[in-house]
Amino acid sequence: MDWSLFGCARKGHVTYEPDEPGLRDRLAAESAGGTTWRCLRCGDFVPPGEEHGKGPAADAPLVARGKALRSALILRVFAVERFLRFLVFGGAAYGIWRFQQDRAGIQHTFNDALPAIRDLYRDLGFNVNNSKLIGLIQHAFTLNSRTITYLAIGLACYAVIELVEGIGLWQGKRWGEYFAVVATSVFIPYEIYDLTVKITWLRAAAFAVNLLLVGYLVWTRRLFGVRGGGKAYEARLREESVIEVEQAALAEQAAQAAQATQAAQAAQTAQATQAAQAAPGAARISAPD
Ligand SMILES: [Zn+2]
Repeated sequence: MDWSLFGCARKGHVTYEPDEPGLRDRLAAESAGGTTWRCLRCGDFVPPGEEHGKGPAADAPLVARGKALRSALILRVFAVERFLRFLVFGGAAYGIWRFQQDRAGIQHTFNDALPAIRDLYRDLGFNVNNSKLIGLIQHAFTLNSRTITYLAIGLACYAVIELVEGIGLWQGKRWGEYFAVVATSVFIPYEIYDLTVKITWLRAAAFAVNLLLVGYLVWTRRLFGVRGGGKAYEARLREESVIEVEQAALAEQAAQAAQATQAAQAAQTAQATQAAQAAPGAARISAPD
């Protein structure tokens, strides 16, 4: 799969007109409709008329290509998972807060509905006394209001953390990646403890996702100085940029041309020396016998 093409299909091409004439020639082509420019992401020539930036090559936009683009998309998958966590925990916090606001009313309604729920359970072949959910609700009525408030605040904080992580990962910003790694790592000891108490699919999956995210971010985004850190990460992006590749090709061409000129000059000098040696006068000087 060509991730660069996929990126261009989604976001449109990115063209740039460098001020350097040699480089400009390598990125531009004349066509019947006008000048066409190579896209900095997919490398294809883009139909004329599309917007493009202009300036020195060093100021060209740094677009993610290939692998970097794929990794940005993977981070977006993680971001979606964080948004879902935000909704679940935010919803829970809101529910608990509402419960706290109108506990008497809700308890009243619950008690009224309990016989119907019991019947429903019996019809389905369950005993309501074995229901974890019903037990949890009944337990909630016995909690004091301060405990409930703390619970709601805790869940709301967690939801906000997940939301910020999601936004950071979605945008692919470095602060967001650091935030995600730190915020996720903080909860890992608790998750391990949770798993030692009881292993459930949900806990194991959430734990695995978090471990994967931390490992993936630190490794591919080179956080905390891993594999050369941020500088190495940017250098890698630059190395793969169309402008950089063309600049390198230009430099290579120039070096080859210089070498060819040098070789030609050396050949000329050698020829001249030979000619001079072959000349009788010169031969006499160099060989006086
Ligand atoms: Zn493109």
